[in-house]
Amino acid sequence: MPHVVTDNCRLCLFTDCVEHCPVQCFHADDERSYIDPDVCIDCGACIPACPVQAIHEVFEPDDERELLDLNKQRSHALPVISVKRSPLSSAAARRAELGF
Ligand code: SF4
Ligand code: SF4
Repeated sequence: MPHVVTDNCRLCLFTDCVEHCPVQCFHADDERSYIDPDVCIDCGACIPACPVQAIHEVFEPDDERELLDLNKQRSHALPVISVKRSPLSSAAARRAELGF
């Protein structure tokens, strides 16, 4: 089933995930990342890499249509990110706010 990045990523952008992806399906804007569902092979390797649990597998697509469409649309409009970057300056506070 498809994998998606959720809003937990916003203002973190730790990017630990991207170096675990074997097919380079992460894309990013200035605030967060997105998974391209047309490239993702659903291996799950990125899930444990994210420090704020922002990635999950979608088992009920009808229940998460908005999130699936957001990941697809944004990933198609943004460049691939395959090398880890420095987290955003807001990342530590956002992580604490999320309880991780
Ligand atoms: S590791 Fe998590 S927070 Fe960082 S870019 Fe990936 S999904 Fe976003
Ligand atoms: S599930 Fe696998 S292929 Fe899909 S984004 Fe995560 S690491 Fe990449």
